[in-house]
Amino acid sequence: MPSNLGTVQRPLRVAIVGSGPSGFYAAEELLSGKISSKVDMYDRLPAPFGLVRYGVAPDHPKIKNVIKIFEKIAAHPDFLFFGNVKIGGDIGVPELQKYYDAILFTCGAQTDNKLGVPGEDLAGSYTATEFVAWYNGHPDYRDRKFDLSHEVAVVVGQGNVAMDVSRILSKTADELKNTDIAAHALDVLAQSKIKEVHLIGRRGPAQAAFTPPEIKEFGELTHCDPIVDPKDLNLNPESEAEINDPNYAAKKKNFEILKTYAAGSAAQKGKKFLVHFFKSPKELKGNSHLERVVLEKNKLSGAAGKQKAEGTGQLEEIKCGLLFRSVGYRGVPIPGVPFEEKRGTFPNQAGRITNNGQIVPGLYASGWIKRGPSGVIGTNKPDSVETVQNMIADAANLKPCEKPDSQAVSAFLKGKGVRIVTFEDWKKIDAAEIANGQKAGKPREKFTQVKDMLSVL
Ligand code: NAP
Repeated sequence: MPSNLGTVQRPLRVAIVGSGPSGFYAAEELLSGKISSKVDMYDRLPAPFGLVRYGVAPDHPKIKNVIKIFEKIAAHPDFLFFGNVKIGGDIGVPELQKYYDAILFTCGAQTDNKLGVPGEDLAGSYTATEFVAWYNGHPDYRDRKFDLSHEVAVVVGQGNVAMDVSRILSKTADELKNTDIAAHALDVLAQSKIKEVHLIGRRGPAQAAFTPPEIKEFGELTHCDPIVDPKDLNLNPESEAEINDPNYAAKKKNFEILKTYAAGSAAQKGKKFLVHFFKSPKELKGNSHLERVVLEKNKLSGAAGKQKAEGTGQLEEIKCGLLFRSVGYRGVPIPGVPFEEKRGTFPNQAGRITNNGQIVPGLYASGWIKRGPSGVIGTNKPDSVETVQNMIADAANLKPCEKPDSQAVSAFLKGKGVRIVTFEDWKKIDAAEIANGQKAGKPREKFTQVKDMLSVL
């Protein structure tokens, strides 16, 4: 028999786990009036906004303007923020289900894919995830040490994360000092001895995952020249077809920009950003510390749009003191929620979480934990709308929770000694960060320790 969940008498109570873009877009859809609902959004950190705060590069401030939209969503009377609460730690999923009719996981992809080559874990070999989180002041990564005393850095992968990492390594401290980069990172980057950043792609220029604005920026740096080997721009017929496909205009734009770099004269500004194509890391070598990376030359095989890199057996080496693996993110499991190990996602059918192919009533996913780590921030909007529309369609058939009361869950958490950070609390932390930033000519100086955020309260 259908329940009255989603009506004014009994609004649908939803816990959203994760306060990044997919979480906020889901909240927006839930609170848009299609049904009556109450949304409590959880984050394990006191600060909201997930990837916008801890993933977006500090020198890309315009992308962070989306926070203004999220703040409007947070101001809705049926929205509450439960910051500093870890789901699967402070409260388990079965306990949470006592207070909510539906749980929507928007917890993103917090770790990285492995390269799967020998030497991957040598000192000096890092993941892009940890470097990005470190320079963005994420509390879990603030104490990581990055040794930038080497002259040559290698970045593996050609997505936009690899571009962010390469750009931060290629910029001068002057180019970064007025951003919201963490102070500890700016100090280390200011002492950097890096002269060359090598970006390694296993396929060709027509398949590169970066987007035109990102590759174009390298031509605009004050102390770094982008360098491309013109031989790499000789395309096979399948790649020609790919760049001329009107559905993928960005490919052609990328190619035009790469052509200008290939035609450029040798490095003049100081640092070099060298873009390599058709090469895969085979091994990272060194005694106790990374000394060089062995690369295998690839050729492409397959039809246009589906070309794969195939090793040719031809090897070369780059001497380097540090290397960043940037070959895609992956999600991490939460106890009590089915997990698809191979993809690093929560198995789902259009956002409804499944277990061995069967829908698990009341559990949903959206964003990177639903579809894998792809797309820009805006991609999460239609993705979250799809999940929420399915939740709304299910609402009348969901089992009503035992304790439909946010005060009750607050009391439970407080009883366990958890200091819940509300959105009002966050606004105080936010104001303190902005004030601290002003002193240093930065948009904000992020607190990089949870205890410092809480001390503002
Ligand atoms: P991505 O775009 O999927 O790129 C991953 C890269 O890793 C690709 O070049 C891929 O090559 C390569 N790769 C994967 N496995 C490899 C292996 N075993 N060996 C060598 N190379 C390998 O992922 P991402 O850079 O992590 O970015 C995630 C998403 O966030 C993307 O959608 C991205 O556009 C977005 N993002 C956007 C911005 C922005 O808008 N400014 C900034 C950062 C991130 P293949 O193509 O050959 O698989």
